[in-house]
Amino acid sequence: MLVAKQPRAKKCRVASCRASFVPAQPFQTWCSPDCAVVIIRQRQEKQRKSFAQRERRDIKVRKEKLKSRADHAKEAQAVINRYVRLRDAHLGCISCDKPASWGGQWHCSHFRSVGAAAHLRFNLWNMNKSCSQCNAHLSGNIMVYRPRLVAKIGPEKVEWLECNQNLVRHDIPYLKRLKAVFAKKCRRLEARIQCNAA
Ligand SMILES: [Zn+2]
Ligand SMILES: [Zn+2]
Repeated sequence: MLVAKQPRAKKCRVASCRASFVPAQPFQTWCSPDCAVVIIRQRQEKQRKSFAQRERRDIKVRKEKLKSRADHAKEAQAVINRYVRLRDAHLGCISCDKPASWGGQWHCSHFRSVGAAAHLRFNLWNMNKSCSQCNAHLSGNIMVYRPRLVAKIGPEKVEWLECNQNLVRHDIPYLKRLKAVFAKKCRRLEARIQCNAA
């Protein structure tokens, strides 16, 4: 005599239920209509999330494509400025007597300004930590900046900066690379500074 195979009992898939049940269909993972609703809601939520994730990724890619060379230059500049502030964390202002312990805002000040010498805007000799007052209000306080820069990096490098007219144009791949490289350098310096402070 043929006996219909009794389906095996399963545990309900709903985490808060876990009741034992005998499925009417092989694919059934819920014990009751209530738990079926819970499972359907969970599935919908998962789909919605992955859709939203994909959407966000697409927007990011599209935004990246829309960025101009100037946008990339600005982003790279912000990262390198931060790097210079970290590099010079132990130093005072390049243009005045404020010591490293000064509690105000620190900027990165260009010896030859970005406006006058855009080709030196990422040059690390040309960039030094300064207090916000010297950088913003005294436009770099350049008369005091020069002798201090000479003391810091030597006269040859300062003269090299002053004479440099090598008008390179930074292209977008270069700017992106610059930003990535200096973001990494910043992270390393920040870790070292935290280590020393601890
Ligand atoms: Zn259940
Ligand atoms: Zn200053």
